[in-house]
Amino acid sequence: MNDDRKTVVLIGDVHAEWERLQRTLDSLATVDPDLVLLTGDIGRDPPWQRAQRRAGRRAHDDSVRRVLAQVVAAVDAPVAFVPGNHDLHDPPRDLPAVNLDGKLVQLAGLSIAGFGGAGPRAFGYAYEWNEAEAEARLESLFDDSGAQDIFLSHTPPLGCGLDRTHGGIDAGSRSVAERLSVLRPRLFVCGHIHEAWGWREIDGIPCINAGAMGPPAGQDLAVVVEWENGPRKLTAFRDGRQEPLREVS
Ligand SMILES: [Zn+2]
Repeated sequence: MNDDRKTVVLIGDVHAEWERLQRTLDSLATVDPDLVLLTGDIGRDPPWQRAQRRAGRRAHDDSVRRVLAQVVAAVDAPVAFVPGNHDLHDPPRDLPAVNLDGKLVQLAGLSIAGFGGAGPRAFGYAYEWNEAEAEARLESLFDDSGAQDIFLSHTPPLGCGLDRTHGGIDAGSRSVAERLSVLRPRLFVCGHIHEAWGWREIDGIPCINAGAMGPPAGQDLAVVVEWENGPRKLTAFRDGRQEPLREVS
């Protein structure tokens, strides 16, 4: 754990929306982040049923690379991500940002556990899992032996409000919810359900869905986290305005 003050910027579910991303990055010009995290669904969908075909794969990889390069060019800080269900589970290793999927990584003095893909609802996208697979993987990756500062999961926990679709369906994961309650990070970050962006406190843990850039419900959105022994102040930079989300005195 690091007690220094730092600023973490969260950018979510870009879905290759280059112009939205650039407007959002421009709106952050006065912010000096120590770390930038992307919540997944970064690039264009790989072609359905053809994800492994070389041309489709290359186009998808290029779109992911372009999004990450755009972020890296705008900030003087490490950039890290998890792939979403619209991304491939095996992004290239030479991307200009750190892939946190299935890893526990120290960045900017923070320990961050990353978990990509989505489930258990399967829509045929590139990176999906069921609860049994997620539970086994999360248990083997992240035991309860060390507290994490940030748990970054593309998929929200089930039934927490951050996973509620426009149609009223709770589209999160039970396994992610269970691992959240075991790990008890200082901050949980997700994306995936764009219309449910925002923050909640779940069992005393501050949780943010920062994934709202791509369609549907697309917005120019980043969440700025001012950190001092944990998240102290959360501010949404949204469509050209700054909106306070949460402050702990
Ligand atoms: Zn998603």
